[in-house]
Amino acid sequence: MTAPRIAFLSLHPGEDREAVDAAIQRVVTSGWFVLGPEVDAFEAEFAAASGAPHAVAVGNGTDAIALALRALDIGPGDEVITSPLSAAFSALAILMAGARPVFADIDPEHLTIDPYAIEAAITPWTRAVLPVHLYGQPADMPAIMAVARRHRLAVVEDCCQAHLATCAGRPVGTFGDAGAFSFYPTKNLGALGDAGAVVVREARLAGRLRRLRNGGQTARAVHGEAGVNSRMDELQAAVLRARLPYLARWTARRRGLAARYREGLLTAPVTVPPLVDPGHACHLFPIRSPQRDALRTFLAGQGIETLAHYPMPISRQPALAASSPAVCAVADRVCAELLSLPLYPALSGEAIDEVSRAVRAFAPVSVHE
Ligand SMILES: *Cc1c(COP(=O)(O)O)cnc(C)c1O
Repeated sequence: MTAPRIAFLSLHPGEDREAVDAAIQRVVTSGWFVLGPEVDAFEAEFAAASGAPHAVAVGNGTDAIALALRALDIGPGDEVITSPLSAAFSALAILMAGARPVFADIDPEHLTIDPYAIEAAITPWTRAVLPVHLYGQPADMPAIMAVARRHRLAVVEDCCQAHLATCAGRPVGTFGDAGAFSFYPTKNLGALGDAGAVVVREARLAGRLRRLRNGGQTARAVHGEAGVNSRMDELQAAVLRARLPYLARWTARRRGLAARYREGLLTAPVTVPPLVDPGHACHLFPIRSPQRDALRTFLAGQGIETLAHYPMPISRQPALAASSPAVCAVADRVCAELLSLPLYPALSGEAIDEVSRAVRAFAPVSVHE
C-alpha cells in the first residue's frame, strides 16, 4: 500500500504549531491537569466565539449531547426526534441519556432533518428534537424551532461538525436550549484527543451541566445527583485555546476551497448538494453518485482518498434498528450515493482542481434497464 497522493485529511500541525507547543508546556509546568484555569478560560473564549452566553467543557461531543438532554430533564420514557443521517454517536447520546431516539427522514436537497418529518414523528412521549448541522451545514432552524414551539419540545442542536456555522446569520447552537460541540481531532476545531462542550443561554442550565459532568457533585464530595465523569483535561483546553484564534481563518479557507470544488464540479457527472446557507462551516464536502463505489475506486486509483459520510443510516445500525424502527426512504437512498472529497485548510487549491478534474473524468457505467 502506498500513501494516497491526496489524503482525505491531514492532522499534522501547521501555523498553530508554536502556540500548541507553548500551551502543552504551560500545562505540564502548571502541575494542574483536569478542570482548572485553562478549562475556565477556554469556556469563556469558546462561548464568545460561538455567540453563546455560556459554554461548559466536557469530555467529548457524545457526552455533550447526552448531558445537554439530561440537564433538560429528558430521560427514561421520553422520545427524542433526530436525523438518520449523522454519526451514530448522535443517536447513541440519546440512549445514554436514557431516552429513545426516533428517526425523522432528511430533506433530499439539504440532507438535514426535514421539519415536516419531525412534525409527523411526534407522539405523546416526544420531549425534544436533536437536529444535526451535518457537514457544517445548518439544519433549517427557523422551521425546526417553529415545530418545537408549537409542540413544546426542547431543542438540542448537534453542532459537532459546525463550529462557527451560522443559520440565516445567527450562530448555530443559539437557537435551541443547548448546542453540543465535539473537538475530536478531525473536527474543524480539534484537540489532541477527545473533548467537547455544550453552549447554553441559561446560567441555571450551565450550572447543572457543570455538576453533571463532575459526578453530580453539589458540594465537594457531596453527589446531589448521579452525574458522570466527563471532565475536560487542562491539556486539551490549553491546546483548544491555542487553536481557537485560527478557527475563523481556517473556516474561511474551507469555504473558499468548497467554492472552488463547486466551480470545478459544475460539469461533473455527480450531484453536488446545493449551498443552502453561506454560514456553512464546510466540515466535509460530500457529493452524490448512483455509482458511488465505482467512483471511489476510480479516485483511489489516482491516489485520491475519499470516505462515505455515512454509508448506512443510523436507523439501520444493528444497535438501533430493533429499538428504533423507522422508514427513512430518503436517507436510505442518499447513504448509498454519498462520497466525501478531501477538504481541510492545509489542502492547496491545485489539489482541489486535481480532484475536481478526476471526478469530471469519471465515466459512469451506463445501466441498461
Ligand atoms: C463527532 C460527532 C459526534 C460525536 O462527537 P465525539 O466527540 O466523537 O463524541 C456527534 N455528532 C456528530 C454529527 C459528529 O460529527
